[in-house]
Amino acid sequence: MLLRELLGLEYTRVVDVTFVHDGLLVDVAPTWRRPRCSSCGHACPGYDRQRDRRWRHLDLAGMKFHLRYGTRRVDCPRCGVTVEHLPWADVGSWFTRPFEDHAGYLAQRCDKTTVSKLMRVAWTTVGDLIQRVVARRPAGDLLDGLTHIGVDELSYRRHHEYVTVVVDHIAGRIVWAHKGKNAATLTTFFAELGAARVAKLEAVTIDMSAAYIKAVTEASPQAQIIFDRFHVQRLAQDALDEVRRAEVHAAPAGPARKALKRTRWPLLKRAWNLRDLEVCKLARLTRANRRLFRAYLLKEALAAILDGKQVHVARRKLGEWIGWAARSQLAPFRRLAKTIRTHLDGIVAYVRSRLSNARTEGLNGKARTITRRSYGLHSSSALIALLMLCCSGLKLEPSTLRPGSTH
Ligand SMILES: [Zn+2]
Repeated sequence: MLLRELLGLEYTRVVDVTFVHDGLLVDVAPTWRRPRCSSCGHACPGYDRQRDRRWRHLDLAGMKFHLRYGTRRVDCPRCGVTVEHLPWADVGSWFTRPFEDHAGYLAQRCDKTTVSKLMRVAWTTVGDLIQRVVARRPAGDLLDGLTHIGVDELSYRRHHEYVTVVVDHIAGRIVWAHKGKNAATLTTFFAELGAARVAKLEAVTIDMSAAYIKAVTEASPQAQIIFDRFHVQRLAQDALDEVRRAEVHAAPAGPARKALKRTRWPLLKRAWNLRDLEVCKLARLTRANRRLFRAYLLKEALAAILDGKQVHVARRKLGEWIGWAARSQLAPFRRLAKTIRTHLDGIVAYVRSRLSNARTEGLNGKARTITRRSYGLHSSSALIALLMLCCSGLKLEPSTLRPGSTH
């Protein structure tokens, strides 16, 4: 009786208790007599009984706490031979649900070493069990009522693999994540969303990749495509860096070349973020290398236009910028001018809506931190579970118990 209280698990009775070398081992059984099918939940005739196995439950007074039971298999008229439903754990798990929820709560808030040490489980195991925690969430709610969404990709495993993430700009949370980064991945999202909910989308922020544009236009033609401003600016930074590298290459070896090499980081910063020394370097550049300086001004001007608030002003200035870049005699910027001309509407749409994937920047930063933390998890599904655990507004509570209550 006392142990049942300590266990705090519903529909679970205690059969026996023993102390083992690292804690407490409790033999348990479901309170119902006839086993139930784990797929459909119906009471069915038993088929056979498997060997005893153990489940880790929440620690008791610092001791590890294991449950032991020989799971039965049932002969279900609908599902065939399946393992029985257990009141304390999901099928295939080595942990009780309160243990998993507790670990999930910690994984939302702590670094991986802390979670592993506190729960005394390996980080890869945490990856497995949070997948079950996330899967237990009631389905469907995240994709309801979406109007303004953003699509972004996160790279992991040293940029060899990608996860596509869909963000709800209004609620500020991740609502969907899937392995891959191409049009097919995004099409999967629209298929899951379904025609009725897709029709309610008003705006989608994406980068300027042809694959994403195609997927959005085909699935949701009524939605305004907005190009992510930071992606646009990154293209300008890349063009600037290309010019710089060409200039370094062309410069005669010596101090001039060295000075050019050192301009990389100051050039990429916004003007007001520069430190004094960097300002000096740039000032020298205005005299020393006019081509590179022109490239820098083009990059800065583009960012300044996107800072603007008025749509018609932004459209006019972008037109001027395109002309300037086209005449700049800098090949990377001539190419960028063409790209911007082609995608002008979606770029101007940013100025109108101020929506970008960085609007939810806190979220984006968090997602990237999580991606780094996921180092050591073996699969993209574990990374996706971690993203959904931490960034989708999933509310978990630490597992606590009062006398007489159950988990
Ligand atoms: Zn069944």
